[in-house]
Amino acid sequence: MKKPTVTVRLPAPVGTEVKCPICEGNKCKVCEFSGKVKVKVDAKVPVQRAHIIKYIADNMKEVASELTRLYGLTPQVETSEVVVKESGTYEVIQVSSIGGACWIAFRVDELETPKYFFSYKEFNAFRRPDFE
Ligand SMILES: [Zn+2]
Repeated sequence: MKKPTVTVRLPAPVGTEVKCPICEGNKCKVCEFSGKVKVKVDAKVPVQRAHIIKYIADNMKEVASELTRLYGLTPQVETSEVVVKESGTYEVIQVSSIGGACWIAFRVDELETPKYFFSYKEFNAFRRPDFE
């Protein structure tokens, strides 16, 4: 079954001319003797949500920095899990931001260079048990 298209109504201020509300079109000082005044109409235009998502995906870098500027969003850093493997025990730090996530696995039982995973697929392959 096809999902219905979701539309989002976004403000699209457009300029227009209306009859002068002071003189009702009879020309006065307010309308500079034109009988009309220019106003901005707070119109809303429907935009399909898919277009908004595509815009965000296509402009992720700009959108992310704008969100950081406006809302002070910073990447989230947290211990996501402890992975016990035959090769050792790792604490996994997940760094998430609007643009995505990466995982850093630190050996907790021994000193070793941390492992970096830049895709969930890659990380998931690492955290799978050695023997199933
Ligand atoms: Zn007028």
